[in-house]
Amino acid sequence: MPFEKHLQRHPDPFYPSMLFTKTQRGETTGVLIETFIRKQLRLKAHTVIRVEETEEALIVHIDRLQKRLLRCGVCRRRCREVHSVRKEREWRDLSMRKLSLRLRYRPRRVCCPRCGVRVEDFPWAEAWARVTTALANVVAALARELSWQGVARHYGLNWKSVATIVKRAVAYGLRHRARPPVHVIGIDEVSRRKGQVYLTVVYDLERRVLLWVGEDRTEVAVKKFFTEEMGRRRCRTLQVVCMDMWAPYANLVRQHAPQAQLLFDRFHIVKHLNEAVDTVRRELWRQLTSKDRVNVKGTRWLLLKNPWNLSDHQNERLSTLVRWNTPLVRAWYLKEAFQLFWAYQQPKRAREHLQKWMNSAMRSKLEPFKKFVRMLRSHLDGILSWTKTRVSNGAVEGMNNKIKSISHRSFGFRKAQTFIAAIYHCCARLPLPNER
Ligand SMILES: [Zn+2]
Repeated sequence: MPFEKHLQRHPDPFYPSMLFTKTQRGETTGVLIETFIRKQLRLKAHTVIRVEETEEALIVHIDRLQKRLLRCGVCRRRCREVHSVRKEREWRDLSMRKLSLRLRYRPRRVCCPRCGVRVEDFPWAEAWARVTTALANVVAALARELSWQGVARHYGLNWKSVATIVKRAVAYGLRHRARPPVHVIGIDEVSRRKGQVYLTVVYDLERRVLLWVGEDRTEVAVKKFFTEEMGRRRCRTLQVVCMDMWAPYANLVRQHAPQAQLLFDRFHIVKHLNEAVDTVRRELWRQLTSKDRVNVKGTRWLLLKNPWNLSDHQNERLSTLVRWNTPLVRAWYLKEAFQLFWAYQQPKRAREHLQKWMNSAMRSKLEPFKKFVRMLRSHLDGILSWTKTRVSNGAVEGMNNKIKSISHRSFGFRKAQTFIAAIYHCCARLPLPNER
């Protein structure tokens, strides 16, 4: 009995809305959870009037402090007059242990001297957002690492909310990102939906960061990069533009950045070269009888591999093949001889090597190689500039792979714009909105 009496006389009046913290002198003092949340949200013109606890959430009721001026939601200027009070809105915040935190408040409309009657500025959230900036930022940060489905599951949101948060973060990041002068860029393309839809991506090869993504891979599409993203003034600092020989944007570069050196990407050139070898192999295959085919089968990788990477067994197979089949031998030697080009330091020597190589390739009687040479001849300047610049899109190979993995891990990117937002979010190093 005395024990119960004790409880009645000293019921903990603040529980559960009381937290205990130690002051600097080591005394224990109670902090009202209202105060704690007000401080966490850094409220100045608003205050927490009540915290309500339900089964699954803590509901934080917020009201304005009468004497403090509210700010305009558009220009953030302080406004003297409140026009009206709107109906209550709710924002999701980071959860507290297992309880999700929800802020509730009736927004005011203020009379801004500049903008007229507008909804006030909320220090805890961006205008129109249904989650607080704190929650939006952790969701956005995690969405850089995980699939959007995974993030949604983690925070008890749905996919659409995560998509909205990421798109808003990207829009903010693009408005507020640093734009230092760009000197070396690489233009490349990525495919979506197994090569049916293409996007063009532009990288800053010095900083290894994504600059721009656009739908499609045509000249018209890429023009937007030069006119909208870069503008005339920023185009002037461009020194090297690295791209594929086949790409239709060489004219754009000459037009918008005439001082820049065109450079045809090493990795793309090697890819075209390997394709020539492969075409020779396939043509040969078609002419062979089924008995001969056994010997040629599985030699594709043997021919494309660097010779020092071959095992003894592979070496042996390669030499049988070589003794046995001349067109393939010529193709293989041509491929190996071409690769020496990349090592030259002096432009003059490099040019001589390339000229000699092209002459022998033209005499090889291999149609795919002749085609390759014709392609080289019409792009010679942009190929020879490798010796001076020594850059290639290989520097951002990792980023291209990242984009591939983004497209694989998400089923929801039916719209190109959503996919583009996801690419910017992962590769462009955009800043996230600040918590005020
Ligand atoms: Zn205003």
